[in-house]
Amino acid sequence: MQLTHEHEEIQRTLKRFIAEQINPHVDEWEAAEMFPAHQVFKQLGDLGLLGLTKPTEYGGMGLDYSYSVVMAEALGDIACGAVPMAIGVQTDMATPALARFGSDALKREFLAPAIAGDAVSCIGVSEPGAGSDVAQVKTTAKKVGGDYVINGAKMWITNSLQADWMCLLANTSEGAAHKNKSLIVVPMKTPGISVAKKIRKIGMMASDTGLIHFDDVRVPQANLIGQEGMGFTYQMMQFQEERLWAAANAIQGLLNCIDHTVAYARERQIFGQAVLDNQTVHFKLAELKTEIEALRGLTYMATEHYIAGKDVTEWASMAKLKAGRLLRTVPDACLQYWGGMGFTWDNPVSRMYRDGRLASIGGGADEVMLGIICKFMHTLPARR
Ligand SMILES: Cc1cc2nc3c(=O)[nH]c(=O)nc-3n(C[C@H](O)[C@H](O)[C@H](O)COP(=O)(O)OP(=O)(O)OC[C@H]3O[C@@H](n4cnc5c(N)ncnc54)[C@H](O)[C@@H]3O)c2cc1C
Repeated sequence: MQLTHEHEEIQRTLKRFIAEQINPHVDEWEAAEMFPAHQVFKQLGDLGLLGLTKPTEYGGMGLDYSYSVVMAEALGDIACGAVPMAIGVQTDMATPALARFGSDALKREFLAPAIAGDAVSCIGVSEPGAGSDVAQVKTTAKKVGGDYVINGAKMWITNSLQADWMCLLANTSEGAAHKNKSLIVVPMKTPGISVAKKIRKIGMMASDTGLIHFDDVRVPQANLIGQEGMGFTYQMMQFQEERLWAAANAIQGLLNCIDHTVAYARERQIFGQAVLDNQTVHFKLAELKTEIEALRGLTYMATEHYIAGKDVTEWASMAKLKAGRLLRTVPDACLQYWGGMGFTWDNPVSRMYRDGRLASIGGGADEVMLGIICKFMHTLPARR
């Protein structure tokens, strides 16, 4: 993936924006267990950064997916995982299907404000009883008159306490689990929607994560994205961008984790020398940096395939798997070299240790990624 002047301009703009507008507030937002999504998204929208790959008719820039990857990577400079994740939900998780399959009217009403930063979106797939096994979602959307009437619950929904609309996956008919689902845009102020719980977590503190109930929620049938019954397929496609984004977003934060650790280990004196001067320490950090650059290579290659119009399900799954693994091993190894300081709450490495743990679970757990890769390798046993 060749970086052009335009890619570098996006990186520079984000670096400045993060240093001036985000990082000075991160500790405060983490303590409050919430960040001001509308304010931050408006600022990003004004910079033209919420619609890099989205169609120009709706305020986007119509660029190829390498620009999303470059942005996801640059967001890794944010001093926590929660804020980049919220931005990624808006740009690469809740909006790709709408941009690709939504009607013109739906895109004008919901996509354009999301790109401008006037609306916050969320993606509602997971439920109390269905996460990895997406086909098992139980939320229903039944046709009544010109509306869908929605009943059910969505769990773990990022941005959901602040969101203006949700891209919801629901069952719109009986029948085969992969063919009875649809994606529907649901405005979050619609009567019948309630936040049952703001979920407390071990990391991603500044991100609002909700359990949302739907009780006879009526939305117009015109809010359907694309064709009825295609929701599962659209969501699987949407996951490819989510997974590429997640892999790209891991890279810079992981490199920063190593840099912080090198700086600390160079200063900290033990047994007459710096911690860093032990070969076991600097070799370990070199090994981990090599792994991170391998993740970058894999992610860029997957992106090139995606831009070329190829099915990247296998590549995106590998990249997401590798990112999840590294987000566990790199902060864990680095934290060790900080000694007791690594075990304190307000430490950049301990924050990454907590935040990064999500990557092996959310957006498809490591085992789900392995299952997908196995399918492409034809090594799975036949289902009984
Ligand atoms: C902070 C946070 C934010 C999130 N944001 C969103 C969001 O915005 N929108 C949304 O829809 N969802 C969101 N999620 C949900 C997330 O995608 C799910 O948690 C994830 O898909 C796993 O589902 P589950 O929690 O139900 O775990 P389960 O499906 O119950 O899986 C439990 C464990 O089983 C194992 N497992 C799964 N499949 C296999 C297999 N085939 N073989 C062997 N082992 C397996 C894995 O280790 C997995 O972690 C979020 C979750 C968290 C924690």
